[in-house]
Amino acid sequence: MTVQGIFSARSNGAARISALPRIAIIGRGFSGMMMAIALMKTVRTPFHLQLFDPSSSVSGGQALSSSRSSTILNTRVRDLSVEVGDADDFNEWLCSNAEFRAAVPAAIPGFRQIFVPREIFSDYVYQRFSEALAGRKDITVQVCNEPVVAIRKSHGDRFLLESTNPANPLFDTVIFATGYGLSFPEASEMEPSPIRAQRLVARPHTVLLGSGIRVVDQLLQLRDGGYTGQVTILSRRGFLPQSHTPNSADPLFPAEAVPSDLRDIVRFIRAACREADEQGRSWQSVMNGLRKHARSLWRSLPARQKHQFNRHLRAIYDSHRNRLPEAMHARLRGELASGNTVLRRGMAGRRGLSGLFFRAAGSAVDEVIHAERVFDCRCKAPNLDTPLLRSLIEQELAQPDELALGLAVNQRGQPCLEDGSMVDGLFAIGPLGLGSLPDIDLVPEIVSQAYMAAEMVGERFYPKSKVG
Ligand SMILES: Cc1cc2nc3c(=O)[nH]c(=O)nc-3n(C[C@H](O)[C@H](O)[C@H](O)COP(=O)(O)OP(=O)(O)OC[C@H]3O[C@@H](n4cnc5c(N)ncnc54)[C@H](O)[C@@H]3O)c2cc1C
Repeated sequence: MTVQGIFSARSNGAARISALPRIAIIGRGFSGMMMAIALMKTVRTPFHLQLFDPSSSVSGGQALSSSRSSTILNTRVRDLSVEVGDADDFNEWLCSNAEFRAAVPAAIPGFRQIFVPREIFSDYVYQRFSEALAGRKDITVQVCNEPVVAIRKSHGDRFLLESTNPANPLFDTVIFATGYGLSFPEASEMEPSPIRAQRLVARPHTVLLGSGIRVVDQLLQLRDGGYTGQVTILSRRGFLPQSHTPNSADPLFPAEAVPSDLRDIVRFIRAACREADEQGRSWQSVMNGLRKHARSLWRSLPARQKHQFNRHLRAIYDSHRNRLPEAMHARLRGELASGNTVLRRGMAGRRGLSGLFFRAAGSAVDEVIHAERVFDCRCKAPNLDTPLLRSLIEQELAQPDELALGLAVNQRGQPCLEDGSMVDGLFAIGPLGLGSLPDIDLVPEIVSQAYMAAEMVGERFYPKSKVG
């Protein structure tokens, strides 16, 4: 939707806007759009909402609606509802979509178990956003196509946002939904190879850096686009995503108390997976069950063990939680078995004149890998060293988590300061809280966090506005 569309549909003049409590959401990725939906559905009294993002469009989330539309989400339909208390909402939306029903007839009467392309999910989110907006004649929404570069506290409990617009008003509530930063977390092609590198490869050769879902995504897109050359995946740890089960794996977790030491927790989970296997269930069920315990386990670990987890276990954990639909996993296995794609473990370094420097695991020397194309598919943590997040931290409105993976936040996304206090009216939603809340980069977790934060906004400013 265009910017003007939303603004003119809702704006009844500057005088009216200035009288309303103001809420800013920084970032229109999935977290930002989800937060907007949750606010419109939860906060019952009028407010003015301003959505900042340099991208000019409004969709179901900038990254999710990317032009690379063939990409399949790796979460099943049944886990992607944006309606709190109605887990079937996305499935119902798909069932009511004649075009989709015609294209996927085999799944009728329900689509709960299937995986859909990202752009379909984005359409669903955007439609729920539009419906929520249409149902609120009492609020105004303004879309601003500029990055926010700094935040300051002003006039007591209010916030001033700095962007290229010098006339930004003061906000009562500011929600950070800046995720992975200003550029989308897509695989990006590194600068074109020097001609010399192209002459050095006997057969077309592409290098993919990383080992998560994005690597597989990029590999399959290359193949779908007709690329027949050699592909080398360079990964530091070498753990590629595991497979989903054919149907959803219901969560399963031992009833006994989970140990508190990291090493014992790993043993405990391994034993649970073995037991599940013996009982005809799957390790995937145990991983799904673990998600319900992950936050309390993470909170209880001492900082030293959190670092150990991050260094040695995170890549394994990610490869077991971010799983591939079976069909994609089978294609990946086929690629590796054929030798057309090779996985190499080690450290990729800088790009030289004739290729990419690489040190294989266990080796003491660098080698140069020649390739005419290199795609960086590594998943980076949110960058705290941006002007906006630096200003937030410097003014002691938030602080990094223990591992500096993001901001220290509680379940509702409120940034936590060193003394345990929180600044009223500030929230950080989604992957920004990844160092405090495991799995907060995933849709189901972002949805519930957004509704919890919206409840807080409602309670703080409009105590009588909550609907029962
Ligand atoms: C390829 C892909 C596949 C995915 N698959 C799944 C899946 O299968 N299951 C699942 O649960 N989740 C999936 N996700 C969701 C994903 O895991 C992310 O957690 C989610 O996209 C995070 O959204 P976000 O809005 O927090 O961050 P982002 O998508 O990074 O969006 C952040 C937005 O903030 C804007 N921004 C940043 N800084 C500023 C600033 N200073 N001022 C203004 N705007 C700013 C950026 O321009 C951007 O639009 C997928 C995401 C992608 C990209």
